[in-house]
Amino acid sequence: MPDYKAPLRDIKFVMNELLDSEQHYANLEGAEDATPDMVDAIIGEGAKFCEQVLSPLNQVGDKEGCTWSEDGVKTPTGFKEAYQQYVEGGWPSMTADPNYGGQGLPHSLGLVMSEMVGTSNWSWGMYPGLSHGATNTIEEHGTEEQKQTYLTKLISGEWTGTMCLTEPHCGSDLGTLRTKAEPNADGTYAITGTKIFISAGEHDMAENIVHIVLARLPGAPEGTKGISLFIVPKRLPNEDGSSGERNAVSCGSIEHKMGIHGNATCVMNFDGARGWLIGPENKGLNCMFTFMNVARIGTAIQGLGAAELGLQGSVTYAKDRLAMRSLSGAKNPEGIADPIIVHPDVRRMLLTQKAIAEGARALIYMTAQQADIVHNGKTEEERKAADEALGFLTPIAKAFLTEIGYEAANLGMQVYGGHGFISEWGMEQNVRDARIGMIYEGTTGIQALDLLGRKVLMTQGESLKGFTKQVHVFCKENADNEQLKQFIEPLAALNKEWGDLTMKIGMTAMKNREEVGAASVDYLMYSGYAVFAYLWARMAKVAQDKMEEGTTEEMFYNAKLQTARFYFKRMLPRARGHAESMLAGADSLMDMPEEAFVL
Ligand SMILES: Cc1cc2nc3c(=O)[nH]c(=O)nc-3n(C[C@H](O)[C@H](O)[C@H](O)COP(=O)(O)OP(=O)(O)OC[C@H]3O[C@@H](n4cnc5c(N)ncnc54)[C@H](O)[C@@H]3O)c2cc1C
Repeated sequence: MPDYKAPLRDIKFVMNELLDSEQHYANLEGAEDATPDMVDAIIGEGAKFCEQVLSPLNQVGDKEGCTWSEDGVKTPTGFKEAYQQYVEGGWPSMTADPNYGGQGLPHSLGLVMSEMVGTSNWSWGMYPGLSHGATNTIEEHGTEEQKQTYLTKLISGEWTGTMCLTEPHCGSDLGTLRTKAEPNADGTYAITGTKIFISAGEHDMAENIVHIVLARLPGAPEGTKGISLFIVPKRLPNEDGSSGERNAVSCGSIEHKMGIHGNATCVMNFDGARGWLIGPENKGLNCMFTFMNVARIGTAIQGLGAAELGLQGSVTYAKDRLAMRSLSGAKNPEGIADPIIVHPDVRRMLLTQKAIAEGARALIYMTAQQADIVHNGKTEEERKAADEALGFLTPIAKAFLTEIGYEAANLGMQVYGGHGFISEWGMEQNVRDARIGMIYEGTTGIQALDLLGRKVLMTQGESLKGFTKQVHVFCKENADNEQLKQFIEPLAALNKEWGDLTMKIGMTAMKNREEVGAASVDYLMYSGYAVFAYLWARMAKVAQDKMEEGTTEEMFYNAKLQTARFYFKRMLPRARGHAESMLAGADSLMDMPEEAFVL
């Protein structure tokens, strides 16, 4: 496993030079503490923790995994101690509500920390990551009493949280869930049912675990309109706030799985466990949607992390490993062979990873800024526009980045040749760990339906227009820039085509609804490449401007420009294939009768 090194220069490039975080934070309500010095100090401290504490535990977690016994789940060596350090460092409280012990820092800053945590050790990062989901739910929808009881403990990190949605027969289609919530005489509910695949459902890192559970009240309407949300703690809270006797919720077993071995994936049995309703009856799914976007950006980070880790390992390896000679003559004549970085195909693999990692960072940070504005924008108008942009960008970030992040992880392994397949180097672990990103928090297929169906077509293309307008303005402003022509011209053409394709699909969908499902994943991937084109063009502009002004960091900015060139010439053409495929019609998928799928 490569030693993780936080990419601080690139993090700062995206935050400060591309997205002007200083101005962004100054425009937010209540973000006064996020001054440039403070932001630098937080990121610097976070980087140290991730490099020195979490990264060394990444391979340990993979090898040891979690172990289940009747007494509970034991996490891998060092996980519990690292969590203790994380709590002592105040990290769980970073972006939480100051009224309950939080520091109230912007979500986007929290996501920078999540990037570093997730890249250095994704399995470990899921424990505080899931707590974040529970924290947000209670922050948004809990009563004052619930906040005092649970939020303070989650924010301090003394307790952790989970999200219990999935059941054995349903994950994507939560409308069919069966877990029951029956009212008790004292106003609480008895929760009964089985939830599966619950990340961090049971572990030894904290004294109590707060489960956020989706369940049905008696007589609730069928489908998604009959789901309510409950808090179900592992240990019932005492009057003084401490954790008391065990609730009737237990972990029946943990899954054996392809990757993320250090994170416990639990079957959770609720046997009449005491639970408290959060938010209105039957509005559980609506309540969850309010923070789902932030959770999904959190998962998008897995794609970024996989690409970054693969890149860090494979760049070092490619400079070191000697094999054959460069086609244009020896570059290392003193050695027995040239380092593999001289070969065009190895460069293709390295540059693809670099374009994905840095593009992903830009996309996630840009999306996170919208999340900041949704929460802390100064005017209603600003908040509404940001909510629309966030809704549009989130499925793209989640699904596109986990798909191409997985591709990057595979390329990281490929650069190592046979050694990539061997555990010692950590590249095969990176591939195994990254694979789940395309499945949980809504599969790629489900995200694509959300994007094309709900976000784009149901708004008559308004959410897309909001974004393409921004791209159009950027292209217009830079239309006369000779140096940037190579980026601006294809970007402007793509931006127009994006709208045309959407219109065409919208028209065919009016005749046949299957067309939406048939086009959706290609549409999402096309959209991902288009958003990346916009971001790479913007990054190229920043780099070009810096080079013209004169800089002592010529190599850094030149690498940005070269990577932008690589992206436009060698990755963006993939969008063509997706455009053709999305217009190919549903019939080539649907005409084949089910019976013809014979084994
Ligand atoms: C390691 C791990 C950790 C997890 N952590 C959690 C957790 O903490 N909490 C939690 O609640 N859940 C968790 N999950 C569950 C996860 O969110 C679900 O597995 C996921 O949402 C998919 O649901 P499913 O497995 O039921 O697949 P299904 O819903 O059965 O889907 C199967 C396939 O059909 C496709 N499909 C389904 N419906 C449609 C449609 N309408 N159109 C097109 N395609 C469709 C899907 O895209 C998928 O490819 C976790 C899962 C794993 C493996």
